[in-house]
Amino acid sequence: MRTVYLDHSATTPVHPKVLEAMLPYYQDEYGNASSLHRLGRNARLALDQAREKVAAALHARSDDIYFTSGGTEGDNLAIKGTAFALRDRGRHIITSQIEHEAVLNTCGYLEKNGFEVTYLPVDGHGSVGLDDLKKAVTDQTILISIMHANNEVGTIQPIAEIGALARERGIVFHTDAVQTVGKIPVDIKDLNVDLLAMSGHKFYGPKGVGAIYMRRGVKVSPLAHGGHHENWKRAGTENVPGIVGLAAALEACVAEMEETAEREGQLRDALQKGIQEKVEAVRINGHPDRRLPGSLSVCFEALEGEALILSLDLKGIAASTGSACSSGSLEPSHVLKAMGIPIEIAHGSARFTLGRSNTREEIDYVLEVLPDIVERLRTMSPVRLSKSDGEA
Ligand code: PLP
Repeated sequence: MRTVYLDHSATTPVHPKVLEAMLPYYQDEYGNASSLHRLGRNARLALDQAREKVAAALHARSDDIYFTSGGTEGDNLAIKGTAFALRDRGRHIITSQIEHEAVLNTCGYLEKNGFEVTYLPVDGHGSVGLDDLKKAVTDQTILISIMHANNEVGTIQPIAEIGALARERGIVFHTDAVQTVGKIPVDIKDLNVDLLAMSGHKFYGPKGVGAIYMRRGVKVSPLAHGGHHENWKRAGTENVPGIVGLAAALEACVAEMEETAEREGQLRDALQKGIQEKVEAVRINGHPDRRLPGSLSVCFEALEGEALILSLDLKGIAASTGSACSSGSLEPSHVLKAMGIPIEIAHGSARFTLGRSNTREEIDYVLEVLPDIVERLRTMSPVRLSKSDGEA
């Protein structure tokens, strides 16, 4: 059966150049980057070159790039590391209600350990308000952590403005850029960030490897203690093939960014328009303009998102839903809830995230099968469409 993969915000296949770059470091160049012999020195050189490439992509200094196991570790290091380093200065952290669990649950952990966390609301498009942020700042605030773009609805936050405000007040600013690095321009200087986490597998790199930018002088306590790796910030033998792969992926994505974003944006718009034309009672989530080019979140009224995703899967289409099935009860997405979308509508959410290899023909195929699936599921649904949206 054909596969139409529209779940690139969950993960991506590796870019053709990535596997090629990684293979030698599994086979011939398998040295430990801490070893003094030739194989070790070659591994070290590969790490140095990878660091240079990541730094170049972000317009950062290579000494400010540290490799991690992915976005979750980067967010933990940024948030807990700052909290532990600055706990004597203050114990207040500001984040938003729509962050990824890697941020929300890390903040929850800190709340249980003596810190106070403010979760900023968002507007109907999923944007954080600067006025809300200003009001939340206290003389105890040590860290602001706001994601660059949301993984579910794709809304891009005003990071540069938030960063400027944080800098003015002497507060450390972290951004979870897992969904933006490699997709849209991420320039450390423009964004006014102190800490920025990314993840290789979201931009056609391997899984289980990431990086964090930590601006020189910003105090962050390490979470893993051990050897001198990553300048004492993250102990453990480096994942050389993974790091080489991450850097190759980022280099390729940056080189192709403009073209990819343009194509993805056109296909996403075609999918959005087609859904709006062919299916009644749908709602598009996220900011109309300040949104990731390949991101499309849709609520289909009077159906369950899970049922839709499973039906699409039977047709070879891979998408995802914002709601999660936990212990038999359907929890609607915390992101849609924070955006003020009624729970019964949030239950019918689906996320389509496009990538570099999607085609117009694939989008046409989705638009061919989707309306029938929606209609069938709605006839089985106990919930009826409201009159204003048309008779069900
Ligand atoms: N932050 C965001 C916004 C994400 O979308 C994800 C993954 O979905 C993560 C963090 C976690 O990244 P990783 O899978 O590399 O741990």
